[in-house]
Amino acid sequence: MADTQKTFSPTADFSAQANINDQSVYAEAAADPQAWWANQAQTLLDWTKPWDTVCEWNPPHAKWFVGGQLNVAANCLDRHLTGARRNKAALIFEGEPGDTRVLTYWDLHREVCKLSNVLLSLNIVKGDRVTIYLPTAPEAVISMLACARIGAVHTVVFGGFSADSLRERISDSQSKLLITADGGWRRGNKVTLKDTADAALEGETTIEKVIVVNRTDDAKHVHMKQGRDFWWHRLMEEADIKHEALPMDAEDPLYILYTSGSTGKPKGILHTSGGYLTGVAATTKYIFDIKDSDVYWCTADVGWVTGHSYVVYGPLANGATVFLYEGAPDWPQRDRFWSLIEKYGVTIMYTAPTAIRAFMKWGTEWPAKHDLSTLRLLGSVGEPINPEAWLWYNTHIGGGKCPIVDTWWQTETGAIMISPLPGLSATKPASASRPFPGIAAEVVDEAGNPLPHGTDQTGILVLTQPWPSMLRTLWRDDERYKSVYWSKFADKGYYFPGDGARRDEEGDYWLLGRVDDIMLVAGHNISTMEVESALVDHPAVAEAAVIGRTHEIKGQAIAAFVTLKDGVGHTSELAGQLKDHVAKKIGAISRPDDILFSAELPKTRSGKIMRRLLRDIAEGRALGDTSTLADPSVVAGLKEKYSEES
Ligand code: ATP
Ligand code: MG
Repeated sequence: MADTQKTFSPTADFSAQANINDQSVYAEAAADPQAWWANQAQTLLDWTKPWDTVCEWNPPHAKWFVGGQLNVAANCLDRHLTGARRNKAALIFEGEPGDTRVLTYWDLHREVCKLSNVLLSLNIVKGDRVTIYLPTAPEAVISMLACARIGAVHTVVFGGFSADSLRERISDSQSKLLITADGGWRRGNKVTLKDTADAALEGETTIEKVIVVNRTDDAKHVHMKQGRDFWWHRLMEEADIKHEALPMDAEDPLYILYTSGSTGKPKGILHTSGGYLTGVAATTKYIFDIKDSDVYWCTADVGWVTGHSYVVYGPLANGATVFLYEGAPDWPQRDRFWSLIEKYGVTIMYTAPTAIRAFMKWGTEWPAKHDLSTLRLLGSVGEPINPEAWLWYNTHIGGGKCPIVDTWWQTETGAIMISPLPGLSATKPASASRPFPGIAAEVVDEAGNPLPHGTDQTGILVLTQPWPSMLRTLWRDDERYKSVYWSKFADKGYYFPGDGARRDEEGDYWLLGRVDDIMLVAGHNISTMEVESALVDHPAVAEAAVIGRTHEIKGQAIAAFVTLKDGVGHTSELAGQLKDHVAKKIGAISRPDDILFSAELPKTRSGKIMRRLLRDIAEGRALGDTSTLADPSVVAGLKEKYSEES
């Protein structure tokens, strides 16, 4: 049997110590999901006022823990200040240049209290929006928690976004305050965030005040606008260290976050307090098996939802030690991540398939230089993970002993929805296993009827019941909320995430990529994910993006954009071999018609392959929304190359 078809069970030792190691959790949660979630909310969080109703469901609008009150920041900080956690590291930070900082729970609480007082002194009140445009550094975490503490709604914008993207998000969220930095570090260079922020604030803006963190010690190159801009350290020097967290209603907004923009214009997702924190606290505890002794590292930038739920809120609600790293994985060398794991004794690592494919491309010699034996659990999120990448991660990073949790979820879902439970699940490379306890999912056809387990047919993933951490609406656009997520299966009341999936005979879920990307070739549905994984399975291939382009006879023909491993030359023989390889692995019908070699693939700034732009290229159309592209020159180059070669 090929390794990709094997199952991998946790070791007996791992299962014995796991936070969940009894299968009965699934049945218990399924029997009464609301009671199960209420129990999580009760046991994992501190409430200042108990709720009256667990869930009010007026499709498609849900409210959870109605009437209950809590403060999200107090749940992440104040309650850890008594007992042993008081002096425990909450954040261990290393900047790209190698500077380090440790903040204990006591320290983090103090800084958050001070910033809360600063925000109040700048006239920020409950309900006001605050845009955070910072590198992944402690100040970003402090800013988010200070907003939560006073009930301001944060909207974090990834530090790699342009002035236009920042301006758009500020104006959509109507933020009053911006928190930014003079700059950040990326591959040895200073990224001048303040200059970009200044450009974003030119002309009309809702922003009244700007707080500037001194990160790169470059004060003389920073223009501070009198009366508008204030240095963080100056404000913090004078701030009172005492601040009483205000109780918030469970349904008070916590944050707005714009989606990655893989499929089009980003959507402003609104999350609220009680249900969201319940979802992220429970999934962190059970999926990452978090313990007080762990050093937990989620490599996501705080600008993405993974950074919100699994760098900040989930781990800190659990009193965990979070490791934060500011920079690039290949700076100064391609072993930076592995050297960090060795240096800090990281025990849990959560990263993305795009990163794993880059590590594979760079070669095993980089991780091999380091002792990674402290790792005990690995996670993946962001895209379907190719089986080859899963196996590589398992062997070369996990040393064959770490359970891998492939976690499916979205900005919209707030928390992980489908994932193995590491002490229980026999995992299969590239299957996300099962819905988390208390989550109801199904794989259906176009009419919304469930597909049988084990069918080859490509289905549509739906969530069939509301869950605590679900988005409440799209900010200032409830109509779009209804149409994007709830109109497709309106009669059934299903939430439509936009992803394709299949369930195998055992009921395990396999995510197949975006529904919009699924190809129809001569009457057969073919998933981009499967063809891409067959290509990545070839020893010469590092990464692949597959799309269906219009074809007169077949309906669609398969075009593959392929990146080769370091040192492999692209020849027409190799293109032929790759086509054969796919045909052999998954069948002649999936044989690509075109193979185009490219040094890079167009990706979002969060690292996801943007297939819609490749479709635009292959079909000779004008390109759609490109504002969320990491590097616009990649598509421009591909467009030129494609028209030359076809
Ligand atoms: P937009 O909605 O603006 O197009 P996006 O969907 O990329 O952007 P995110 O919310 O960051 O924005 O990403 C969620 C999507 O990522 C999911 O809908 C799914 O397509 C993909 N995804 C995340 N994790 C996984 C996973 N483990 N397996 C398969 N796909 C995943
Ligand atoms: Mg999406």
